[in-house]
Amino acid sequence: MDGLKKSVGAALIVGVHHEELPFGRAAVLALGETGSIPDLKVIEIAQGLARPQSFRNRKFFYNTYHNELYLQIHRQLKKKYGLVMDLHVGHIEEGLAAEIYTRNRRLLSAIDRVNSDSSRLDLYFIAGRNEYTENTEELNICHTIIPECVWRSDSYVYAGIEIFVESRDGFSGFRKDEIDFAVEIIRLVWKGFNSIQRQTEKNRQPVIGAGKTGSKTEPG
Ligand SMILES: [Zn+2]
Repeated sequence: MDGLKKSVGAALIVGVHHEELPFGRAAVLALGETGSIPDLKVIEIAQGLARPQSFRNRKFFYNTYHNELYLQIHRQLKKKYGLVMDLHVGHIEEGLAAEIYTRNRRLLSAIDRVNSDSSRLDLYFIAGRNEYTENTEELNICHTIIPECVWRSDSYVYAGIEIFVESRDGFSGFRKDEIDFAVEIIRLVWKGFNSIQRQTEKNRQPVIGAGKTGSKTEPG
């Protein structure tokens, strides 16, 4: 169900929003230097979305293109990767913060387990528009305009990552600590994914001595 059987590698999408591409590139570069995610496939969106305009017809085109872009990503990535991370960057008054949003509860709890500093990170479970899911202490709920086939994919685990950096004009001129923080969060998602994958593998191991033949064959 988690789509973890065949596809095990990870993909990282950068530049869905065009102005965020420089940040994504810087994070990918720094990530490459740490070499901590083996076989990471980076998907750079060359023609990402421009900031939505307030005019109604422009907004319509924006939403249509947004949808189309994610559907293309979905077609390109399905059945190839176990984990699809989608990196974004936003502004915050001061400091650094991050949000991770996914439909996979196991991934959320795994990230929560491996995360050492939860003060700067919020985890969200993606719920459908008309789906009733209770916002509990353990589970923050969010909605997204990303097409459902992406975040609810049964071929990969989708994880959106939003890094919030201190407000400035545009999305360039990043500080090293901001890039390092993004790398840390991406690695955290990967670590969480890896741990649920190991768990899945473990559950699939046949129990020695069990079943029909097991009664005749003593283990060891
Ligand atoms: Zn974005």
